[in-house]
Amino acid sequence: MPICQHCGVTVPDGAFYCLNCGTAMKSPATSSSASQPQVTSQESSSEMSARLEKAMRRTELLTYAAAGLGASILFVIILIAFL
Ligand SMILES: [Zn+2]
Repeated sequence: MPICQHCGVTVPDGAFYCLNCGTAMKSPATSSSASQPQVTSQESSSEMSARLEKAMRRTELLTYAAAGLGASILFVIILIAFL
């Protein structure tokens, strides 16, 4: 039974469209096991890059927060020193 490349639902043999999402099915001869690992690897790599991007943004935010905290502490120290 072929598997929908869009939603992953198994589609009955001979069906031209996915019963779940309506995506047009490729012929069983071309959509063999050779094309499936490519899709999964692409999805996992994009997911990884998205996670990495999120982590980068988090560290960036942390850096900004730390810099802001340091600046404010420095400002308070200078304020106390001059008072
Ligand atoms: Zn589908």
